[in-house]
Amino acid sequence: MKIASTFQFENIQGFKFGSNPFGQPKMFAHVYFIDGLLIDTGHRNMRKEIMKLLHSLPVHQIYITHHHEDHTGNLKQLQDHFKCPTYASSMCVELMKKPPKISPAQWMTWGNRPANFNIQIQENHLKTPNYCFEIIPIPGHAVDMVCLFEREKGWLFSADLWVHDYIRYFMHAESMRQQIESMKKVLTLDFEVMLCSHNPQFKNGKNRLEKKLQFFEDFYGEVAKLNHQGYSISSIIREMNLKRSWQIRILSLGELSTINMVRSVIRDEESRLGNLFYK
Ligand SMILES: [Zn+2]
Repeated sequence: MKIASTFQFENIQGFKFGSNPFGQPKMFAHVYFIDGLLIDTGHRNMRKEIMKLLHSLPVHQIYITHHHEDHTGNLKQLQDHFKCPTYASSMCVELMKKPPKISPAQWMTWGNRPANFNIQIQENHLKTPNYCFEIIPIPGHAVDMVCLFEREKGWLFSADLWVHDYIRYFMHAESMRQQIESMKKVLTLDFEVMLCSHNPQFKNGKNRLEKKLQFFEDFYGEVAKLNHQGYSISSIIREMNLKRSWQIRILSLGELSTINMVRSVIRDEESRLGNLFYK
């Protein structure tokens, strides 16, 4: 089943896309349009619907928040259509020249995206005729991820920093410590509206992000404590009563799992303690 819908919030147009070959979509990707700027491009599996809904917009520039396939799936087609510049962080520009392979679960939910050599580096600020967006690096979920913040309006385009108050799965490259640092950085900003790429929040955005930060800090603390006590990964999972979905783990070839969350904390702790030791 495919779902495509649009909404308007203040001067922002939002586009919501979801697809699932076996029933109701469980995840949605959002594309935002504001003052000539298109933020992200949605996923490959919804290309027809995305091109249909976006083709008549007056797009003058595109910004990519990070290299994941649900944000970059239609970049080439939209570039060809709008003939406008595309910007991203320097790390995103590099990653998009040779994007990492995706798992069958990602392929089924989102679809793949090809390499793209036509992205320019834009960091610090991005201007549109009426707004100025601060570009803030928020690594952790992806090394190249940034959010866009319009200070006057209090709009935060948060990419995948929040998504939900609680998260059950990580991809293997994610770092929980970096995500905690990124959330703390963003929580110093003054915002209410959180234009999340999967789950936009029009009020209480900051509260929702605080909830996720709390969840991550508790999770991190508990895993680190058990790890220092000598618990193995599987006994940590048992001790913390974490539910594991074998279906998701197998379909994603291990790319998406609860174990990755635990492993991430152990890795982060090892490098933190290593740094302390060598200082
Ligand atoms: Zn992502």
